[in-house]
Amino acid sequence: MTGSILDRLEEGIVLGDGGYLLALENRGYVQAGPFTPEVTIEHPNALLALHQEFVHAGAEVLQVLTFYASENKLAQIGYSGRLGDINRAAVQIAREAGGESTLVAGDICLTWKYEEGSAAAADECRRLFDSQIGFQMEKGVDFFICETFLHVGEALLGLECARSTGLPAMVTLAFEGPNTRDGKTPAEAAKMLEGAGADVVGANCWQDPGFMLPVLEQMRGAVDCHVAAQPVAYRCTEEEPFFTRSKGFPDKLDSYKLTRYEMGDFAARARDLGANYIGGCCGCEGSHIRQMARVLGKAPSEEREWSVSLDNPQSATEAYKHLRSESD
Ligand SMILES: [Zn+2]
Repeated sequence: MTGSILDRLEEGIVLGDGGYLLALENRGYVQAGPFTPEVTIEHPNALLALHQEFVHAGAEVLQVLTFYASENKLAQIGYSGRLGDINRAAVQIAREAGGESTLVAGDICLTWKYEEGSAAAADECRRLFDSQIGFQMEKGVDFFICETFLHVGEALLGLECARSTGLPAMVTLAFEGPNTRDGKTPAEAAKMLEGAGADVVGANCWQDPGFMLPVLEQMRGAVDCHVAAQPVAYRCTEEEPFFTRSKGFPDKLDSYKLTRYEMGDFAARARDLGANYIGGCCGCEGSHIRQMARVLGKAPSEEREWSVSLDNPQSATEAYKHLRSESD
């Protein structure tokens, strides 16, 4: 299947990929805390392998790993001079990992530099976005994902910069509570982004499926354009309603992890609510995407016929089958 992201979305649901930084932190290639993606030049094979895992699991889009690959964030770890190298490498690696029909999405995200009502801060955000976008465009991306914005004001700036390339743009917000930091409901924010020319609007990161689905539902009801949802695969609670404020963040999240079946259920519920682009963010790994692909009827068929013999077991699956409950 070929065609632009907009053609694909017209044909049906598009399955995105999962999260990169937390997965690579687990594997020892990203530092918990700054979460900058110098891995694109320091350990490109680790990133390549993770992209390949997502494609193998059924992902139809690879998002380039340029989250926090902005000049200000890279300066924190002494890599500001490698801004171009890091952004270009991210696109190159995603291209190499993808199949013929895999789309590659460029990526910009929150800068932590935005200040409501400040023209100077807005200019600084634009400058940071434009420099990342310029380096990513040198290698060529298929569309842009502007992600994890806490302020719709900053998301609008990201959208403006992404749209200046002439490529389609998807914008997703991260919610700490019922509203954005600049006080907009999901419905209001989605309308503002659609009005400013976003092709896809939605939510990503911070919240787990249970907290994100109501956000998705509000957005779906407010706009005519495509909607997207990419939640984290870490459990959230009323006390810890988004994962970056949980006691487990940033590096003790193992016990928070959702199962592949919980993410599969999310995919089904998001589909039923009318989502067009469904994927995952932090904590969402290949096993989750694979189950989501199955649920959405997109699973690659790599499963083999297996002749089960309970009388002559050849694996623990058969040997202990009689001791397991059938219910789960
Ligand atoms: Zn995330």
